[in-house]
Amino acid sequence: MASPVIVQPDANVYHAPPPTLLESSPTYRMAVEQLYKAAQLLPEIDPDIINRLTIPKRSLVVAVPIRMDDGRLQTFLGYRVQHSLTSGASKGGLRFAPNVDLGEVAALSMWMSWKCGIMNLPFSGAKGGVACDPTALSMGEREKLTRRFTEEVLAIIGPRTDVMAPDMGTDEQSMAWVYDTYSMKIGYACPEIVTGKPVELGGCIGRRQATGRGAVYCILESLKELDIAPESATAVIQGFGNVGSVTAEELAAIGVKVLAIGDRYGAIHNRNGLDIPALLRYAAQHPQRSVVGFPDAEPIAADELFAIPCTVLVPAAMERVITAENAGKLRCRILAEGANGPTTPEADTIIDAAGIHVIPDVLCNAGGVTVSYFEWVQDLSQLMWSEQQVNAKLKELMLGAYQRVRAVARAKNVPNRIAALSLGIYKVAIEKQKRGLFP
Ligand code: NAD
Repeated sequence: MASPVIVQPDANVYHAPPPTLLESSPTYRMAVEQLYKAAQLLPEIDPDIINRLTIPKRSLVVAVPIRMDDGRLQTFLGYRVQHSLTSGASKGGLRFAPNVDLGEVAALSMWMSWKCGIMNLPFSGAKGGVACDPTALSMGEREKLTRRFTEEVLAIIGPRTDVMAPDMGTDEQSMAWVYDTYSMKIGYACPEIVTGKPVELGGCIGRRQATGRGAVYCILESLKELDIAPESATAVIQGFGNVGSVTAEELAAIGVKVLAIGDRYGAIHNRNGLDIPALLRYAAQHPQRSVVGFPDAEPIAADELFAIPCTVLVPAAMERVITAENAGKLRCRILAEGANGPTTPEADTIIDAAGIHVIPDVLCNAGGVTVSYFEWVQDLSQLMWSEQQVNAKLKELMLGAYQRVRAVARAKNVPNRIAALSLGIYKVAIEKQKRGLFP
């Protein structure tokens, strides 16, 4: 079993969390390592608070049995982790993916805490997941899995306790099922139990596009800083799901040439730029919504994607895809992290040395939770905002956060990731410190 490798600034001050979570998950180890690194910028925070923040407040592991279409009973493993409840209800997506485990969900919940902190949202971080291959499930099986998972975690969720949203492998329909299951249990309609639900059920206009849109606002700011006109910029994107497809659409709309896109099934390339509206129509007809086979492009090997020279590289699929092995091959000016945790700490060192401008995940993809916050506020106050209001407010909050991160990075001469994490960690840690220890 791999022993936990944690960069500890001072082993007398910070101690590693219990080995169980660490040993099982490189993603969780990575999240803890990032926390320790960024905490070095926060001398005003008691190190014991930082130690406390390495361990999620509450983790629930559940069995989720369902009857499959062929009559078999199959039991899936489900997780809900609430990293903290200090800053308000915990908030985070529900992921359906084959390799989800407790450590991965714990890491993602921690990143959600920092993200809400950076954006100054009154939420704490959470995440959930069910280990399954959603593409191998029928619609009926996905519904049963979502409803039974909701039932199993019912004791720890609530509109003031823990509010879910879509993530990898789940969508608006999944959130409609969570909403309905929860409402049936408590006896009245409670739309504020989830965000990212259909607009007809109290969802927020623009929530589906929010993560990609927020990423593009950050990319535009970075292009401005580097004095690059969007029309002369190019992009390469990994992932063509919610985040990747909207990012591609928005980038193409402002004149950025999207050269290549990869997904779970392969990758495609067109040196003159892909026709994104046509690609969106093509993927919508493909059973797995894949880009593979798109006629107006060349197929390329998935591992060639990150080495394509481009202005902006957008990993928008999964964590730990940019590693010490491939970081040296990157040929981009800007790395805009649409996915959560796509870059390992070892890769960070290589990327920083290469002078690549990183828009870290906790900032770059924060548009999703920001519009989720707008949705929750609208549901609680029973009001509806226009798309114009949503987009204007999203832009204002994203640009504000981008500038705060850049100001810390410049003032302290640290990479954008460390600057962003330190802002998020400070917000959570100072609230904990001032509230004091119960009892
Ligand atoms: P999604 O399920 O809609 O799409 C995932 C995409 O990644 C698909 O195109 C899939 O084919 C591709 N993919 C899966 N495995 C892959 C692999 N091994 N190699 C290459 N591509 C692969 O998911 P999403 O909602 O777009 O989420 C993508 C990432 O963005 C995740 O890290 C998620 O946590 C993060 N994120 C999502 C949101 C949101 O609002 N949906 C918000 C913040 C962060």
